[in-house]
Amino acid sequence: MKIKFALLSVLVVLLLVATLACQPSTETSNTGKKSIVVTYSILSSIVKDLVGDKANVTVSIPNGLDPHEWEPSAKDIEAINKADLVIENGLVLEGGMEKTLQTARDKGVKFFTASDHIAVRHVGTGEGIPSGDPDQAVGAEDPHLWMDPLDMKSIVSALAPVLLKDLNLDVTGQATDLENKLDSLNSEVANTVAQLPQADRKLVTGHESMGYFAQRYGFKLVGAIIPSISTQAEVSAADLAALKKLIQDNQVKAIFTELGTSPVVAKAIGDETGVKVIEITTHQLPADGSYFTFMTDLANVISSALK
Ligand SMILES: [Zn+2]
Repeated sequence: MKIKFALLSVLVVLLLVATLACQPSTETSNTGKKSIVVTYSILSSIVKDLVGDKANVTVSIPNGLDPHEWEPSAKDIEAINKADLVIENGLVLEGGMEKTLQTARDKGVKFFTASDHIAVRHVGTGEGIPSGDPDQAVGAEDPHLWMDPLDMKSIVSALAPVLLKDLNLDVTGQATDLENKLDSLNSEVANTVAQLPQADRKLVTGHESMGYFAQRYGFKLVGAIIPSISTQAEVSAADLAALKKLIQDNQVKAIFTELGTSPVVAKAIGDETGVKVIEITTHQLPADGSYFTFMTDLANVISSALK
């Protein structure tokens, strides 16, 4: 009986060891590194470039899902509450996370809000379509700050001293390198769009996501299929009729659709105006996870489409 029990115990231990060996190691396990949670994938790419392997950087909103709509699970909420630092975009980009982020703040979790460190763009007069939607109102704050590499540079410059002060992470060298790379990226995008005559630099997009890009590189925002800075707003027949007229009046060469745009609505507008519909990636990282690839790809697709 005793021998049987001992054998059983050995078996149980062996099984346990085998099970543990098969489990993937979690990023936070016993590394002693600080944990940084970034709400949004595109912002996290730059944060990862900045901190390298000096901290564990995790992302809340999975790449490819709409940041305007995503809601955290219990596990995501726990990661945020346990983080040494939470880095958020701000300006209600993380609409479905607002309550979670506020609760973490109230509990004393440290936060870095990217939009606090840039000149926030506001929806301007004549942009989009007057729809009576409060999100679309002239003066509404635009959260799509990653569309300007120089705004990302400002965010890097502001974040580096916070990492030193709050997490004791010295990333001074990486910050300088990254700032230089973002300057080069800005020049590269500017050179790409420089091939386009000023008259062709007109944007119609799925929702109003290209404002910072337009401001930096001299594009006119003609309108959006969902005339709002969020993808969640509704679209009316009157809005669409107004958009068709704007596309024709401005001789727009392409309609750009993105994450959250209705393909049916986009195709209908394209068919009725005789303008081609092109998909662009504005809210998710490419396969290599690089913000630099993201921006150069975007600039190339837009330039080719409007040529
Ligand atoms: Zn958006």
